[in-house]
Amino acid sequence: MTQKKLEANKTIALVAHDHRKDDLIKWAATNKEALAQHNLMATGTTGRLIEEHLNLPVRKLLSGPLGGDQQIGALIAQGEIDVLIFFWDPMEAQPHDPDVKALLRVGIVWNIPMACDVATADFLISSPYMNGTYTAALTDYDEYKNRKL
Ligand code: PGA
Repeated sequence: MTQKKLEANKTIALVAHDHRKDDLIKWAATNKEALAQHNLMATGTTGRLIEEHLNLPVRKLLSGPLGGDQQIGALIAQGEIDVLIFFWDPMEAQPHDPDVKALLRVGIVWNIPMACDVATADFLISSPYMNGTYTAALTDYDEYKNRKL
């Protein structure tokens, strides 16, 4: 096991599918003060809506179906995202379903705290780890990287 220390000031990525955007905006508005303590980034449309409704600065990536989910996944793999709030739609297939699965997978690979519904997001944002430090255990992938083929 290796470790990654998360500092008090975190980078939070926010993503919501179209039918979940209202839920995310409402949740973000309720938690605006807490979110304002951190660096926010989001897929394109989600980020625009958060900026409009909350008047908080958001680093906006591409829209999800245009590659934004993959950008967030890459940033998680690079260690640049600490927390993912990802309200994906359980009732409708998406054009970028493979990207959705990939993003959820890479979040597990790197042991990122991820919330996919309002209740989990509430637990996460109210955790003492959110404004404190947290040492995340990372799986040691050396054996995998050095495997004999
Ligand atoms: P959007 O992308 O914020 O650009 O709508 C979200 C998604 O569908 O992954």
